[in-house]
Amino acid sequence: METDSSLPQQLPSECCIAGGGPAGMMLGFLLARAGIDVLVLEKHADFLRDFRGDTVHPSTLETMHELGLLEEFLKRPHQEISQVRAQIGAEPTLLGNMSYLRTRCRFMVLMPQWDFLNFLAEQGRRYPTFHLRMQAEVTGLIEENGKVVGIRGKTPGGSIEVRADLVIGADGRNSLVRDRAGLTVESIGASMDSLQVRLSKHATDPNLFVYSDRGKTMVTIDRGDYWHCGFAVPKGTAEKMQARGIEGFRESIVELAPFLRDRVKELRDWNDVKLLTVSSDRLREWYRPGLVCIGDAAHAMSPVGGVGINLAIQDAVASANILAAPLRQGAVSVDHLAKIQRRRSFPTRLTQRMQGVIQKQVWRGLGKSEPTRPLWLLRQLERTTLPCRMRTRFIAVGFRPEHVKTPNAFPVQAGH
Ligand SMILES: Cc1cc2nc3c(=O)[nH]c(=O)nc-3n(C[C@H](O)[C@H](O)[C@H](O)COP(=O)(O)OP(=O)(O)OC[C@H]3O[C@@H](n4cnc5c(N)ncnc54)[C@H](O)[C@@H]3O)c2cc1C
Repeated sequence: METDSSLPQQLPSECCIAGGGPAGMMLGFLLARAGIDVLVLEKHADFLRDFRGDTVHPSTLETMHELGLLEEFLKRPHQEISQVRAQIGAEPTLLGNMSYLRTRCRFMVLMPQWDFLNFLAEQGRRYPTFHLRMQAEVTGLIEENGKVVGIRGKTPGGSIEVRADLVIGADGRNSLVRDRAGLTVESIGASMDSLQVRLSKHATDPNLFVYSDRGKTMVTIDRGDYWHCGFAVPKGTAEKMQARGIEGFRESIVELAPFLRDRVKELRDWNDVKLLTVSSDRLREWYRPGLVCIGDAAHAMSPVGGVGINLAIQDAVASANILAAPLRQGAVSVDHLAKIQRRRSFPTRLTQRMQGVIQKQVWRGLGKSEPTRPLWLLRQLERTTLPCRMRTRFIAVGFRPEHVKTPNAFPVQAGH
């Protein structure tokens, strides 16, 4: 039979997920494991994009444990960090100490996000109901009688149409899905952006996470043989900085972390520096009949605390818990979608508020030339373990941690 190649390829699915980031991949995995036919569409050809978050927190490790995947996951190259140290002005500060936690893993894992997503993809492929299409970009929604009933997309092989009982928008902070669905975005505002660079790492380097002094703040993530650095700049000032030349930026890095002096020349020009714009927002309503958004598509997270990936995973676990049974019965209602928002809205708001408070502190300091010295009261408080315990709990576990309640529909096939 001849097929008309100008017609879009039709792909039926019980659930179609737009976006293969942490939220989309984890939800795809969980639903497929529960026996739901799920199709994840990811616009890129691979997960290999640099400058994505790397911090896998104890909350996500707990999820891995509940899924029986923790051991396998920890076989991947990674680093385990139980104490997060910073240099704030002249004061060495313990930002987080995971040994205070009661979680299975009392450490966080640093793993490049592409390794994390590849791991989820590999685990998903063990289930016959898991389908992942790379280079499949969602371009629009299909609607009938006010209900979303599928998506339109494009692939190198031509256009596609997916009809699905439910569409999930997990396509990140610039979500096309939420835009096309007409969902209202409430901007919370982010006062800074981040200049991202990589600099080689030497065995004798100090192992600190944050350097902050004289109005400058930089986060350094250990990637084995290099440092992935995020340098905070007040929003909208990156261009001014660029106009001052790369030498000025190199000097700013050295002022914060003098041990990098012998290698800042690795930044040959501004092409070696990537500007990442930080945004913070959330949807007023996360859903419409036939569609729900999760992760950054529902609430764009700033990098403060490195919580965004982990919150996205928590969204995925909660969504799977709520949706697996009605999806199996073909009976997903708007009430189920509203329940996801009710469940996840509180931790999202609280986390964004905490990020806002920290961001404001950083922002107030940005551009000041005098040495940073925390207030006397704060310094006294830091002598107790209370602030550190509170920060650790907020960052490593978050508010309202989720637990996997979805069944494994293929226990023998999946090997556990
Ligand atoms: C500078 C910066 C640094 C950060 N650092 C950290 C950190 O260290 N730790 C941390 O936990 N969080 C960090 N965050 C936040 C974190 O990146 C996000 O909160 C998290 O990635 C959200 O996951 P997600 O799956 O919802 O969205 P995303 O990770 O954005 O994934 C969305 C996916 O959808 C795909 N996509 C987009 N549009 C389409 C389309 N039309 N069709 C198909 N696919 C599409 C994208 O390619 C992407 O793979 C950082 C954020 C910023 C801005």
